[in-house]
Amino acid sequence: MRNRYVILFVLLVLSTLPSFQAASAAHLTRAPAPQEQNSASKAASVHESLTLSELRRKYAETFKFRGPHVRQIALTFDDVPDPRFTPGVLAVLAKYHVKATFFVVGQRAEKHPELVRRIYREGHLIGNHSYNHPLFKNRELAYFKGQILRTAEIIHNLTGVHPRFIRPPYGEINEQQLKWVKSSGYKVINWNVDSKDWKGLSKEQVKANILSSAGPGSIILQHAGGGDGADLSGTVQALPEIIRTLQSHGYTFVDLSELLHIKGSR
Ligand SMILES: [Zn+2]
Repeated sequence: MRNRYVILFVLLVLSTLPSFQAASAAHLTRAPAPQEQNSASKAASVHESLTLSELRRKYAETFKFRGPHVRQIALTFDDVPDPRFTPGVLAVLAKYHVKATFFVVGQRAEKHPELVRRIYREGHLIGNHSYNHPLFKNRELAYFKGQILRTAEIIHNLTGVHPRFIRPPYGEINEQQLKWVKSSGYKVINWNVDSKDWKGLSKEQVKANILSSAGPGSIILQHAGGGDGADLSGTVQALPEIIRTLQSHGYTFVDLSELLHIKGSR
């Protein structure tokens, strides 16, 4: 007991000393030290350009990359149409009665309109993958809007539907663009399983990349079109076994609209 009184007394005396008061006041109101100002301004610039995962958290209703934890999987095919690979993918999907989602590049659609009509006619969902596949991250909003709206119009003219789902090339988008996506009623849909098939992988490699990480609610990224030297034969050849394997594990394949319970067109 005595000790406690002594400590209280010492604190009382200390608190009357000018240096002690100054230190307490400084603790409450002190200005940031120079290095803290640095990190504060760093934080501000980070805020201006959020990472993709920060954007996904902040705009969770607009920016999706996987579905709910159910035994459903969405296959998605980017960079279509391409007469070298898209028909092969469509044939496998038709054989197994699987519906998928195809992200169309506007410029490619202009070159192969019949293939876009076929994708739509065969019951697949069509999404918007820009007009000529630029990296959007450091682009102006007007440029982004131009690419999306031009492609939407091309798809609408071919199919009569206006796709709601956008997949930005390379999955990259910035906050300003995402805000416009949100206010315009579109959704950005990336993926959580990457086949890496654009590297020209073999059937076995494509299969391994997908089956090693696919699970409930997965959105799988593959390609059914590509540039001049692209070889997506691995994707086409792997597809039947990927479908059979995942079906044998109890999965059903759905398009993105069904997986996410969001209307995919308007
Ligand atoms: Zn692409």
